[in-house]
Amino acid sequence: MFAAFISAVVLARQPARVVAMAPAPVQTFILLASPTPLPTPTPLPPLVALLAGHSGGEDPGALCPDGLREVDVTSDVARRAKLLLEARGYRVDILAEYDARLSRTERSYSPRVFLSIHADSCVYYASGFKVARAENSAIPEEDDRLVRCVTAAYAQVTQLPFHEGSITTDMTHYHALNEIDPQSPGAIIELGFLGSDKRILRDRRDLLAIGVADGVDRFLRGEVCQ
Ligand SMILES: [Zn+2]
Repeated sequence: MFAAFISAVVLARQPARVVAMAPAPVQTFILLASPTPLPTPTPLPPLVALLAGHSGGEDPGALCPDGLREVDVTSDVARRAKLLLEARGYRVDILAEYDARLSRTERSYSPRVFLSIHADSCVYYASGFKVARAENSAIPEEDDRLVRCVTAAYAQVTQLPFHEGSITTDMTHYHALNEIDPQSPGAIIELGFLGSDKRILRDRRDLLAIGVADGVDRFLRGEVCQ
């Protein structure tokens, strides 16, 4: 700026003459586009896996003389619970009893929560539902919290009693609980007895599904569910 001022003064004191001006160099500016920021990956909603007991195979599970089948109850409740959980923003897989996702030897199927849905036999001497986790759980505290949340929500919605006396090794050694990722919380629910609890298992699957969905939801929200 200072040098330009001096030369302007010198030029002004000289006799007027044509000053050949060199053309200003053409400068090319390359406008570098600022790098487009990568979109921040939106975390996927938690994945819930609901196994519809006895679905996808030949074995329908428990059968009643009137034709009510365990597999029809579990499949319908799983489907209804899936819709409820999806409406609350979760992703939901419905699995068959021996689903290919469970048969990987590396146990890599890792939903945020896994719940297998079954129902008890068509008898009239027992009533109620039960929830259990794997006896050999790698994360017993989380699995117990899941059991508590599903138990509390299901009892509240269905008003069915908890039938603890009939928790068997079929539940605590249930195959699918040993086929998911050991770090995925998992449990199995028996929705009720197809005999004594027939009215709610056959006619009020909306309630059963709300109980299941509420229990999963409460667990995923981090509730202690005492
Ligand atoms: Zn079953």
